Amino acid sequence: MTAGQAAPTEPGLIQKKLRLLMELRRAGIADTRVLGAIEKIPREKFVPASFEDQAYENMALPIGNGQTVSQPYVVALMTEKLEVGTRQHVLEIGTGSGYQTAVLAALCRRVFTIERHRELLREAERRFQEVRLHNIVCRFGDGTKGWPEHAPYERVLVTAAAPEVPSTLADGLGPGGILIVPIGEDHRDQHLMRIRRLVDRFETEDLGLVRFVPLVAGLPKSRLDQSLT
Ligand code: SAH
Repeated sequence: MTAGQAAPTEPGLIQKKLRLLMELRRAGIADTRVLGAIEKIPREKFVPASFEDQAYENMALPIGNGQTVSQPYVVALMTEKLEVGTRQHVLEIGTGSGYQTAVLAALCRRVFTIERHRELLREAERRFQEVRLHNIVCRFGDGTKGWPEHAPYERVLVTAAAPEVPSTLADGLGPGGILIVPIGEDHRDQHLMRIRRLVDRFETEDLGLVRFVPLVAGLPKSRLDQSLT
């Protein structure tokens, strides 16, 4: 582990964090490394200041640009199912607030993360500095194209819903690699899928219903472009 975050100073937040950890255990999160990472990463630093007191509620919160940080249970579930090892390189598509990135970074060697909203990425990068996580490499761009320069990846996590498994990302998996991605076009009918690369084929497993913002190809129009149209 590389981070040296301080515990939240506000006593109320410590209580709320402990309650959340108990709730995650009750909900079936059993991996103590994952629970340890959730305990260590200060979620209150990854949400807008006005939501700080809700940082340890088990709910998704808005982070700007029409996006949300996932609820802690979903972050814990995806992290557990990704089976992240300390020596592994992880590719994450959809940095958003950077919270999921930080949880992964506490568990693996290096996280490569891509975000298509420049403002969100800037803010996330600032947070990684603040909590002293130095094993995260950020890229502004369209994650549907992957990040071929660092492929193959042992683990790939997509935190936005795709209509189908993005083949570029599955192809970027090394042998034995795992890709987790929410699949489904309809907001109410998305399934979290785990794809494992075996020697000669991909094995697919349905991990259950989830609700994510959509994975959008391409980059958002800049404000300048928008004002011209
Ligand atoms: N893991 C994030 C969740 C953010 S929501 C967190 O913990 O906060 C999903 C994010 O995926 C959004 O920030 C959205 O802008 C981003 N996203 C959607 N399509 C993308 C794409 N093609 N490339 C990169 N990021 C994308």
